Amino acid sequence: MKQKISAIILVMAGIVLIQACAPNQYAGTNRSYKKQVKAYANLLREYPVKDSAGLQQPGSWVGTTNFSMRRPNYVIIHHTAQNSCEQTLKTFTLPRTQVSSHYVICKDGTVHHMLNDLLRGHHAGVSKWGNATDINSSSIGIEIDNNGFETFTEAQVNSLLTVLDRLKKAYNIPVANFIGHADIAPGRKVDPNRNFPWQKLSEQGFGYWYDTANVQVPVDFNAMQALRIVGYDIKNDTNAIQSFKLHFVQNDSTKLITEGDKKILADLIRKYQ
Ligand SMILES: [Zn+2]
Repeated sequence: MKQKISAIILVMAGIVLIQACAPNQYAGTNRSYKKQVKAYANLLREYPVKDSAGLQQPGSWVGTTNFSMRRPNYVIIHHTAQNSCEQTLKTFTLPRTQVSSHYVICKDGTVHHMLNDLLRGHHAGVSKWGNATDINSSSIGIEIDNNGFETFTEAQVNSLLTVLDRLKKAYNIPVANFIGHADIAPGRKVDPNRNFPWQKLSEQGFGYWYDTANVQVPVDFNAMQALRIVGYDIKNDTNAIQSFKLHFVQNDSTKLITEGDKKILADLIRKYQ
């Protein structure tokens, strides 16, 4: 019996050894990540701190004793518009693409963490939500493997909910601030696609949903102003309506506000304002 256990341990040790020796496809990019993080760590170590405007007088630096790291305040959800998770991992590890996200969720539910939550990813691009701009600086980006037209797998949604739960608790992210790329970049982005389960997310406390059962729409109701109150950039009406429909009225691919949409918006603005 003892011999059998020893044999099993030996085999297991062998497996561990083989795994440890297996060439890691991403060893090079992991080294590059470490190098870049080290450069930022050195920036934080700088003492005395150089004023961002370069106007600091000698001796004027007084280090406070009370501070912490800046925290993300939004979560932006994307679909990758690529054909596989492997393709996305490759895209996010090629310096020439200059795009990245903090998390990538594969069809089987595997979650790849690619960037420390406290660092700025390159996933949002030119974007606006309410008065917030440079959303890369204040958000976590989550990319879900999906070619842009597919439904999202149950495993992906389950993994996503786990990640969202952790992020919400870790950084105290408000319910309203779980949104999609299309929400913050109308006319430029359409992800996540209309199959994305926003209502299900909302039921778990990530993003708002609506209940139009007892909603009376005021006669002077202005749908575009309501979209603005929710957060949409209404510079272009049609683009803003398209993004709103992708999120809240997913079975309607027109870019027209209906009486039903007005009811939805009348209910939503009560939550957002
Ligand atoms: Zn996106």
